Amino acid sequence: MRQKKPERFLACPKCGSNLKKTEVNVEGAEQKATSYQCVKCDYFEFEEKSAANVVKELKAKETPLKIKQKIIKLSQDRLGMYFNKNIVDSLALKAGEEVYVSVPDKSHIILKINKPAI
Ligand SMILES: [Zn+2]
Repeated sequence: MRQKKPERFLACPKCGSNLKKTEVNVEGAEQKATSYQCVKCDYFEFEEKSAANVVKELKAKETPLKIKQKIIKLSQDRLGMYFNKNIVDSLALKAGEEVYVSVPDKSHIILKINKPAI
């Protein structure tokens, strides 16, 4: 017997607006991941359990983690993007770390993390 959990209303940690629950297609995975996206800014996070399931499925298939994200406007002429928590966790990224950015062709950006191999 499972008890139904009350629907959680989450607030965006960046701007305080409501987060909308959305099902996200992850390339290479059959199941969808549940994410919470801010209605105002571009913040989003994955619901941990569904993200873990997707990562598990991808690992089983040996598909690299691939997530669709939007390029966001940081200021007048600067664009950027966030690393979401799943990427941060799987790579153990920390603020201040250096990355080498290379552009091999018109449709790829490669980020090489500048830290000693484990
Ligand atoms: Zn927000």
